Amino acid sequence: MKLIYILPIGQTDPKIIRYLSKQLLGYLHFPTKVLGAIALPASAYDKNRQQYRAGQIIREIRLFDFSNIEKVLGIIGADLYSEDFSFVYGEAEAPGRNALFSLARLDPQYYDQPANQELVKKRALKEATHELGHTYSLSHCPDTHCVMYYAQSIEDVDNKEEKFCARCQKLYEMYNS
Ligand SMILES: [Zn+2]
Ligand SMILES: [Zn+2]
Repeated sequence: MKLIYILPIGQTDPKIIRYLSKQLLGYLHFPTKVLGAIALPASAYDKNRQQYRAGQIIREIRLFDFSNIEKVLGIIGADLYSEDFSFVYGEAEAPGRNALFSLARLDPQYYDQPANQELVKKRALKEATHELGHTYSLSHCPDTHCVMYYAQSIEDVDNKEEKFCARCQKLYEMYNS
């Protein structure tokens, strides 16, 4: 049986990881398994930006090699960037095996708002499903409520739902049947 492996990178909230591990099965068809955390890869850190380069971390995730890997989803507490963007919520091979997203900007405390774990869980599930959606060949969706909508702000993230819209769900099943 193939598994979606969840890989915590650096320090992350174990409650969030456990929640994702349970909930992802509701949207994708594979069971999940949480791996032991790996250290933040120093090679991906940009001192000036104080952020980690998403593409470099994807390269690290690519090194994981077991026989029953369906996908590997990295979850990092630190903030991410990619060359053309001041920050990214996540990145994925589209299509591919490996995906990554950051919890940093999903935490209301990042915006000087009170801590709210339920909100972080909700946001994290959206980002996890979004990045894994890319690995299953889905691209961005114009429907602002669809999980594949390209969120550029936390308001965009909050505005979308945890699941694929009907069109994306159909595409997901067509590409992966
Ligand atoms: Zn995307
Ligand atoms: Zn959609």
